[in-house]
Amino acid sequence: MAGDRPVKRRRKGSGATGQGGEVLLRQRTDPRSERRFEPKASLELGLTLLGMSVAALRAGAGVYGQWFRGEEAASHPAAPYLLVGALLLGAAAGLFGQWSMKPVRVGDAGVAIENGPGEIERVGWHDVTGLLLTEASLTIQGGGTVLAIPLRAHLPAASHVLAEARKRVPGRVVDIKEGALPPPDDAAGEVRPLDPPQVAGLHCKATDKLISFEADARLCGRCGELYHKDGIPPRCATCDAPLR
Ligand SMILES: [Zn+2]
Repeated sequence: MAGDRPVKRRRKGSGATGQGGEVLLRQRTDPRSERRFEPKASLELGLTLLGMSVAALRAGAGVYGQWFRGEEAASHPAAPYLLVGALLLGAAAGLFGQWSMKPVRVGDAGVAIENGPGEIERVGWHDVTGLLLTEASLTIQGGGTVLAIPLRAHLPAASHVLAEARKRVPGRVVDIKEGALPPPDDAAGEVRPLDPPQVAGLHCKATDKLISFEADARLCGRCGELYHKDGIPPRCATCDAPLR
């Protein structure tokens, strides 16, 4: 605990998003929370999945046939895009099916999907590289992980994810119109406390300094980016939140 210094100047109650000139630097052990959403199940969902998978396979096969059949077809300018699109759709359908019935979590630690008891796949806000909204799902990409949140089973969760992403990492939410999803419902989901993150052995985002002791870690309260207490920049390198 040595070397701790006051880092929470002008901390004003609510909001991890820095409105009102709040300094957003956090200690590792500061309280954090997230919302947990149970999926909404339906037969319709299963049929949709089946349809998407079939459509993806047909599209993929068609384009593949065209592309590899001859020189003429290969030169079609849209063929590579169609093929990529079909592959993505197929992948999305697979992920969609796999994750459709799984609880989703959204909060200070980013977005997570529960794959099983004690097995959570998570993307921190600071790792988010992009969000993609389709009619079927909201996809969160980042840190080598892709999380697809099916809208039919998880619309309230998707609304919270999109709203939080707009506040926390607005630069990564492009191409999604305002009002594309309903506004987040404060009554939806169950708010739960989060354990402090495991940060020993990781590196400071600003200085790359090894964080040997968890007490040396500081976090951006908005995007969760990690800093060594001796290398805190004035503003978060990832989300530009004021840190000191
Ligand atoms: Zn940040």
